[in-house]
Amino acid sequence: MIKEVKLKRGKEGSLDRFHPWVFSGAIASLPKDIEEGEIVNVRADDGRLIGTGHYQIGSIAVRILDFSDRKIDKDFFKERLTESLALRNALGLMRPDNTAFRLVHGEGDFLPGLVIDIYGNTAVLQAHSPGMHFARNIIALALTELDGINIRNVYYKSETTLPYKASLDPVNDYLIGGFETNLATENGLQFYVDWLKGQKTGFFVDQRENRSLLEKFARGRKVLNMFCYTGGFSFYAMRGGAELVHSVDSSSKAITLTSANVELNFPGDRRHEAFAEDAFKFLDKMEKGKYDLIILDPPAFAKHRSALKNALRGYQRINARAFEKIAHGGILFTFSCSQAVSREQFRLAVFSAAAQTGRKVRILHQLTQPADHPINIYHPEGEYLKGLVLYVE
Ligand code: SAH
Repeated sequence: MIKEVKLKRGKEGSLDRFHPWVFSGAIASLPKDIEEGEIVNVRADDGRLIGTGHYQIGSIAVRILDFSDRKIDKDFFKERLTESLALRNALGLMRPDNTAFRLVHGEGDFLPGLVIDIYGNTAVLQAHSPGMHFARNIIALALTELDGINIRNVYYKSETTLPYKASLDPVNDYLIGGFETNLATENGLQFYVDWLKGQKTGFFVDQRENRSLLEKFARGRKVLNMFCYTGGFSFYAMRGGAELVHSVDSSSKAITLTSANVELNFPGDRRHEAFAEDAFKFLDKMEKGKYDLIILDPPAFAKHRSALKNALRGYQRINARAFEKIAHGGILFTFSCSQAVSREQFRLAVFSAAAQTGRKVRILHQLTQPADHPINIYHPEGEYLKGLVLYVE
């Protein structure tokens, strides 16, 4: 018997508009023996069925998987994954020269709490909710049964994404298959993905299109790729004909991987150098006018709303440093991946930085996350990546 969660009177409004979260404050009653991660039916005060979802302890109490009472089993996941795959196929992302893409982007693919990135024949699965943690094995199985893609290995990587308090003690490991290769291809460029130890699922697939745009700006430029991680922007800049490319990250592991990735695509190319250093320190001591194409793609400065003020100050500070130092006629690619920072707030922080340094700045492009990170229109919280391409006179 599926347990039932009953809402307080009048609390079904946002759910009737297909927002997939039930907040704990909206709940009138819960079954006594309910356990975290369980599948539940949600009912309005008058008994009307609202949907079926995963229960968890915390402010988001239920994540709705379907606005009906449908059974959540392997067939359900297979159906959703098939739809997700069809969308990626329609987007032209599944090609021999492009084997890396996001297959499931949580609420954006009607699978709240689940992220799946594909690297060739390997899927990296990340659960953000206890319910998805418990469903991991049937999801993995469903992945291997999809038509149109040959997933042989499923790696589970949820040690840092599940709520700590849930005490689920997830272990990062293969659910199916094992290590084959960690080589993937994005728009014809190859790179190693470290899903075992790397950040996120091992690679930032969300910058693919912004990297392509950068490639078009790179010819003859001196490029500084700040917060380079595994060097994505760097090898696009090199293919675009940059005169030199310097990559900076505070993590020495990231720098090692960046160098390996550059070597993979441009063996023996002396245009590239990588530095394991703090970005702020690097910008402080850097001479003015040394670079005329700078990328700033810092980690999320605000992981939660409470950190918003400091985050905005952080964005202003780092962008002001770049405006102070970038050459005349320089191009700045600047990003924020903090979900808690809105597009307007980010733009205002960059605006303040420009005004503070007195540089003449124009917006050339306004960037966002790519189409394999879709935003469910009923769940605007799914929008997180924002970027600006600026011309600095
Ligand atoms: N641009 C990258 C993704 C950046 S992720 C890509 O396209 O793949 C953010 C990176 O910032 C991480 O690799 C992290 O190690 C690095 N980082 C965090 N704080 C830093 C700091 N103070 N200075 C330099 N790098 C930092």
